[in-house]
Amino acid sequence: MISLQNQIVLITGASSGIGTACAKIFAGAGAKLILAARRLERLQELANTLNQEFGTATHLLQLDVRDRPVVESTIANLPPEWSNIDILINNAGLSRGLDKLHEGDFQDWEEMIDTNIKGLLYLSRYVVPGMVKRGRGHIVNLGSIAGHQTYPGGNVYCATKAAVKAISEGLKQDLLGTPVRVTSVDPGMVETEFSEVRFHGDAERAKRVYQGVNPLTPDDIADVIFFCTTRSPHVNINEVILMPVNQA
Ligand code: NDP
Repeated sequence: MISLQNQIVLITGASSGIGTACAKIFAGAGAKLILAARRLERLQELANTLNQEFGTATHLLQLDVRDRPVVESTIANLPPEWSNIDILINNAGLSRGLDKLHEGDFQDWEEMIDTNIKGLLYLSRYVVPGMVKRGRGHIVNLGSIAGHQTYPGGNVYCATKAAVKAISEGLKQDLLGTPVRVTSVDPGMVETEFSEVRFHGDAERAKRVYQGVNPLTPDDIADVIFFCTTRSPHVNINEVILMPVNQA
């Protein structure tokens, strides 16, 4: 049994899907968790469950990752007992719409770019210096198969995930010579609230996305993230692509 006792893991987008599953698996290994998202009541519920089940210590951040000054001050003002982050899981992200580019919605584009690219950059920019200074740390970025393949109507979302792939590779290069590790975890279809968010709350349309595919579960992704972050310190898993068996 791997123990992460006294390790601090910051998970963005912990209020749902993959982020919540990550919180559970890391809590089970004894880690202390900083849980971030906009929906504080969800985080509170999760924290209560983890506390009852595993006795997990949590620190909750109601945070919009798109708000750079707030991200900066939030990280800078973490209580001292929470400031030495060992693992950063840049998971907050979303897709909006599935429109042709020439018919696309500007607000949807901005939301995806600001969250998936800029939010991930802001968190990394403010958390990684502490890791470098302390000589330990691991950043896990949630990319996607969408960063490797572009599907019809996926234009801007796929571009954001291609950017995540480039950022992960770039950060890895920038951290050479330090013990800080970087991993991109790039899943295919995972059944979460993602599709419902993509279709602005249209639950029926969201459900149809999974027809004919036996999608991955959030736990499948959390398992892989846990595996990647618990290898020997000299091992870096650069990138993992994981797909449902019957997704092309
Ligand atoms: P969910 O919709 O279930 O979860 C998304 C999470 O991101 C929520 O916790 C949400 O919290 C958070 N979030 C969204 N916008 C912001 C913001 N501006 N600030 C802070 N938090 C935000 O989706 P998944 O769990 O599926 O997605 C997690 C990651 O995995 C995303 O990066 C997604 O792109 C990626 N991914 C998902 C796949 C899938 O098929 N589901 C496939 C490949 C990659 P809140 O609304 O409370 O802020």
